[in-house]
Amino acid sequence: MLSDVQIAQSATIQPIDEIAKKIGISPEQLEHYGKYKAKVNPKEIATLPKKQGKLILVSAINPTPAGEGKTTVTIGLADALNHIGKQTVIALREPSLGPVFGIKGGATGGGYAQVLPMEDINLHFTGDFHAIAAANNLLAAMIDNHIYQGNTLNIDPKRVLWRHVSNMNDRQLRHIISGIGKPTDGVMREDGFDIAVASEVMAIFCLSKDLQDLKNRLSQILIAYTYDNQAVFVKDLQAQGAMATLLKDAIKPNLVQTLEGTPAFVHGGPFANIAHGCNSILATKLAQHLGDYAVTEAGFGADLGAEKFLDIKCRQSGLRPDCAVIVATARALKYNGGVKKENLTLENVEALKAGLPNLLKHIHNLKNVFGLPVVVAINRFVSDTEAELNAIEDACTAQGVKVSMTEVWGKGGAGGVDLAQKVIDTIENEENKFQFAYEVEASIQDKIMAIASKIYGAAHVEFSTEAQAEIANLNRLGLNHLPICMAKTQYSLSDNAKLLGRPEGFTIHIRTITVSAGAGFIVAICGTIMKMPGLPKVPAAVNIDVDENGVISGLF
Ligand code: ADP
Ligand code: MG
Repeated sequence: MLSDVQIAQSATIQPIDEIAKKIGISPEQLEHYGKYKAKVNPKEIATLPKKQGKLILVSAINPTPAGEGKTTVTIGLADALNHIGKQTVIALREPSLGPVFGIKGGATGGGYAQVLPMEDINLHFTGDFHAIAAANNLLAAMIDNHIYQGNTLNIDPKRVLWRHVSNMNDRQLRHIISGIGKPTDGVMREDGFDIAVASEVMAIFCLSKDLQDLKNRLSQILIAYTYDNQAVFVKDLQAQGAMATLLKDAIKPNLVQTLEGTPAFVHGGPFANIAHGCNSILATKLAQHLGDYAVTEAGFGADLGAEKFLDIKCRQSGLRPDCAVIVATARALKYNGGVKKENLTLENVEALKAGLPNLLKHIHNLKNVFGLPVVVAINRFVSDTEAELNAIEDACTAQGVKVSMTEVWGKGGAGGVDLAQKVIDTIENEENKFQFAYEVEASIQDKIMAIASKIYGAAHVEFSTEAQAEIANLNRLGLNHLPICMAKTQYSLSDNAKLLGRPEGFTIHIRTITVSAGAGFIVAICGTIMKMPGLPKVPAAVNIDVDENGVISGLF
């Protein structure tokens, strides 16, 4: 089997005009970024017939550290739908440079289910993330400059909430002292960097309806407190106009293609823990506008990604999935059943069965808590055995849930035809009783309790003293009637990465609460969440190279 980048490089890529034509967009309506990438301004195509395509949300069980193939299955399912004559458009996140050079690698799918040009998408692409980082850092500069220039807003430099960002994994920048030097070199304070995808600007970017909404949301970002404990917002600095100006092109979704020529909007990529972890609302809506089916992915397992997609993104946008696909792999089920990472390729039906309650809990959540029609997609790996795959199928069938063996990684769209047919059948024949897991008007504690008990299966929620104080503060500021963005480990339904399978009777520990007032959600952090990852001992960067002809190797 060739590597992902080798498959991508040996593909025949079509000019982006040809891909756009398939969904009714003329070359004049595109903003070209080279031959194979273009931006689409939703305003430009507003008059094109609205297909109101069915929305398919791809999520997964709790994964192994390598990822279970949600992006791969999203792409493969869309290719399969097109393969059987259903016009389908994809909406996906843009990858962050952090994981590309760190551990995980790219995020453009894998095997024969990839989006192209994969090198560009995984690297600078159309510059959206650079624009987002620039907007974030412009605000950071304006805050420090305001303090330096006399501080008429009375900002307490020790209570500046806004941090700089860089789109690299760089632990060295987590905590820094800035403004050292002469009196003219700024006001010294404790400061730090987050990775760009963790910026609230990124979350806002992905939740905005249009440029005006983007600007409004930017103006509402909470950036600091004054010495007398008053909240300071971006609008107090009048920074929203300049920030939005930096984002005016980035906000237009990027159109690319899969290996099989399926149109894909790849746009925005918020961190999946402290933010909601899915592509922009604009991209999802464009995909639905132009396709009979729109396939999209939510990051991490369904307890985190799908829950936030449904309770935050759908609530803010009016989107409503027509079907949820849960990706399961034999190796992740074995991992959930207690098998060590290094033994996941060995057959172990007993361990797999021990891990199955994890899958069943996710099925229950999406079907019974959120009320969505559900299909399970088994993402087949070469090391899977018949006995293992049968055990997964039997467990799903016993629950009355459709299950499909998918081989899109090895075979592209042809390997996902059965899944495509089952998804269509489910959409056409099963009832959709979509509802949120909680109401936003409830108290912050009750909303968190609802997620912890209904979705995670927790028995208790414990709020730290710090979290309780911040809840009181948000009540004081009137910022309490927002949805909750849970930040916890993706490896477990609990907040303990080692508690695998389907744990019960556990406590969720809310350590910190923060607000993303512009994005419009309250972040509840369980345990420690890193907003600036570090690189591993041998980063992926060590194996990435480019030859004299500009051909890249080592990207995966
Ligand atoms: P996720 O979106 O869930 O994080 P990805 O789709 O990005 O996962 O896949 C993670 C990695 O696993 C990618 O490198 C991909 O090539 C690989 N992968 C996915 N499905 C398979 C499969 N069936 N067999 C082998 N490798 C796979
Ligand atoms: Mg993914």
